[in-house]
Amino acid sequence: MQEGQFNQDFFQFLTDSPTPFHAVAVMAARFQAAGFHKLFEAQEWNLEPGNAYFVIRDNGALAAFTLAAENHQNQGFRFLGAHTDSPSLQIKPLAGTASHSYFQIGVEVYGGPLLATWFDRDLSIAGRVACTTADNQLATLLIDFKRPVAIIPSLAIHLDREANNGRAINKQKELVPILSQTGEGESLNFSSILVEQINREHPEKKAAAILAFDLFFHDCQPPSFLGMNSEFITGSRLDNLLSCFTGYTAMIETRTSDSEGGNSLMIFNNHEEIGSLTASGAKGTFLQSILERITPDPVARQRTLRKSFFISMDNAHGIHPNFSDKSDPEHLPLLNHGPVIKTNANQHYATTSVSAAIYKTLAAEAGVNTQEFVMRSDMACGSTIGPHTAATLGIPTVDIGAPTLAMHSIREITGSRDPFLLYQTISHYLSREELPRSEG
Ligand SMILES: [Zn+2]
Repeated sequence: MQEGQFNQDFFQFLTDSPTPFHAVAVMAARFQAAGFHKLFEAQEWNLEPGNAYFVIRDNGALAAFTLAAENHQNQGFRFLGAHTDSPSLQIKPLAGTASHSYFQIGVEVYGGPLLATWFDRDLSIAGRVACTTADNQLATLLIDFKRPVAIIPSLAIHLDREANNGRAINKQKELVPILSQTGEGESLNFSSILVEQINREHPEKKAAAILAFDLFFHDCQPPSFLGMNSEFITGSRLDNLLSCFTGYTAMIETRTSDSEGGNSLMIFNNHEEIGSLTASGAKGTFLQSILERITPDPVARQRTLRKSFFISMDNAHGIHPNFSDKSDPEHLPLLNHGPVIKTNANQHYATTSVSAAIYKTLAAEAGVNTQEFVMRSDMACGSTIGPHTAATLGIPTVDIGAPTLAMHSIREITGSRDPFLLYQTISHYLSREELPRSEG
């Protein structure tokens, strides 16, 4: 695949995936179109060597895997992992209040967004709605208003002279988006708005009553190239849809070009931003239960896992020119200079010397530069899905990711070359004849 087409497809994926549920739906459609068979956890699986499959849990997590044509029970897996969720503002269950002729919707903060970046943006609403239909069935449907329908206005500087002096944001009081202007004593009925939207997007379903929802606000501004030489990409949810897109595209492309490949499995977990301890999160049972069904014999499964390797993909921090003292002076990842290996002495990243060496070998073979990140010793380190998987399954794991700026802003920044550099490395990993291994 060419880099120009790759980035265009990436922009489309970002636009089509305002929530984890949408990201999973888009990925499922891509895998299905590429010949991966859809499996359901509640049904029997009749897996065949040489075939490719995918399975979804709770709308927000997806695992896709390919089985070697011969002797797949005795071969290791090329594992890849990423997360589907991003920090956001989630709508409260009993949403909607009228105040001074404005109709507003209460939100909870999902994960750790940079809250200041959510003010004065053209916001839309998307997510999953559970409802009853006209024939009295329960249905779970995805909706995305796509157009700007809400805003959180800043308070004018004249009314808050301290606004530029590091004022804190009150999450309950100051973050409530405005949806509409109403007349005296009037209010909007949010449930009827949702029924209308469902019937617009799913006319065959005929929603009757809304029972519950997982709805989020998102920024309507589409992703863009930026810079005098278009050397940057800006957009929402680069953390971690960049890794999701790169992973599924590499799996599909290597599968198309080499259907004789070995075992590979990519897991896209939900809920990384809130700690991963959920049914569809990396601390849940999703990956383990899939592996139990692929290789039911526990000893054979352990042998398989010991021969496997896991690349956990999540974005990394590039050095920020205005805040360079926030980076370790010897570890300064740059945008457009290749994926970053993340290391932490306290194993908040799963990288070890062995897994880093294997990754460096893979990247060198693919002709892609490698950078290294370690947090300053006097600052706390973030984490990702890698350590959970390494601990649960005992697979050698490396934590890597594209360098970015403004992580957890409503609009994040990466290099325009970075997604493709990650893609080249991952594609090489998936199509390499032998699984990488270190003796000793
Ligand atoms: Zn992330």
